[in-house]
Amino acid sequence: MRSHGKILAFVDLPEGQLDETGKGLLSYAARLAAFTDMSWGAATLLAPEGETLAAFAAYGTPSVSIVAGGEKLLDRPVQLGQIAAQLATVKGASLLLLPHNDLGATLAPLLAASLDAALVTEVTTARQMNDGLQLSRQALGNRIAETRVWDGERRLVITVPVRALSQVLLPSVKPCQPQVNLWQPPALSADPSATVINRIPPDPQTVDLTDAEVIFSAGKGCDPATFKQLQELCRLLNVSFGVTRPVFDLGWTGFERMVGQTGRTVTPRLYLALGISGSMHHVGGIKDSRRIVSVNSDPKAPVFPNSDEGFVADLRDVIPRLLDKARAVYGGAA
Ligand SMILES: Cc1cc2nc3c(=O)[nH]c(=O)nc-3n(C[C@H](O)[C@H](O)[C@H](O)COP(=O)(O)OP(=O)(O)OC[C@H]3O[C@@H](n4cnc5c(N)ncnc54)[C@H](O)[C@@H]3O)c2cc1C
Repeated sequence: MRSHGKILAFVDLPEGQLDETGKGLLSYAARLAAFTDMSWGAATLLAPEGETLAAFAAYGTPSVSIVAGGEKLLDRPVQLGQIAAQLATVKGASLLLLPHNDLGATLAPLLAASLDAALVTEVTTARQMNDGLQLSRQALGNRIAETRVWDGERRLVITVPVRALSQVLLPSVKPCQPQVNLWQPPALSADPSATVINRIPPDPQTVDLTDAEVIFSAGKGCDPATFKQLQELCRLLNVSFGVTRPVFDLGWTGFERMVGQTGRTVTPRLYLALGISGSMHHVGGIKDSRRIVSVNSDPKAPVFPNSDEGFVADLRDVIPRLLDKARAVYGGAA
């Protein structure tokens, strides 16, 4: 396999800050560069300053290319794609790395089309093999799972799901002061082709559970009263609501709320398992959650060894207390 050249990581700086996703992407790029033996750099639309620049340095970012006037492109995705493609060409990048968030998921296909590059979205694992870079992806929960190999012949655009990005500072990466350069893109045409006029975040109450950030899930340990209270709690805290199969079987929710082997495979930042025993059929669908917290009255419940944190408690005590606190903060019927 021939040398792959350079990785260019497109880092989003919401409100000028390097957020968890941005840090995770830098960590991912540094790791990818180390095992592929490629050089790497970052590209941004805003100039990083102060603490933000220091964070780039902490992740050992060798260079940061800033697109002059880039903030104007945020709402003009087609032009942003063309300009990002020009930057990638100028920088000699052969692998373009983006987070699979709103901006990255929009930009990646535009970049791939402009550069006639290969595109692999939602890459969870990358491994260097003899025949090339092996990329495994999981999309739509676990409904699509496949592995592809990049031999380096064509340019490649990849996106990484936000849940797969970890902000870890690798011991092998040495902090360095990045070389910052301002890149002046060619003049934009007057016609923006498409302009974003509004961004509507997903509603946790209706979002597909495979995309939910925080899920509170009810098991058979919830009686009808606690179940109703839990639904209200989810509404007040604006988090998503899930159930186990026996709860679905009771007819209390639709099938789309069921989590587990036959239900949805979920990967939230937080999964709160309430009155759930932790059968393998359920745990199989939640094990990739970033953090699992469980509450169960049985200290021997199998859910506990599968949790990051567990509380032995009765839901009939816990849920009304949580609800009282949530009502006090966010309002709602007493
Ligand atoms: C082929 C197959 C596929 C399946 N697929 C799925 C699936 O996709 N999703 C799924 O969820 N299940 C699935 N199941 C069912 C699964 O095997 C379990 O039966 C189910 O997950 C158990 O649900 P549960 O934990 O809510 O109920 P239980 O196992 O009955 O557990 C209830 C828990 O609540 C606790 N509890 C009781 N009262 C309280 C209280 N007052 N306070 C606190 N805790 C309390 C108990 O200690 C207990 O641990 C599948 C089964 C099969 C055979």
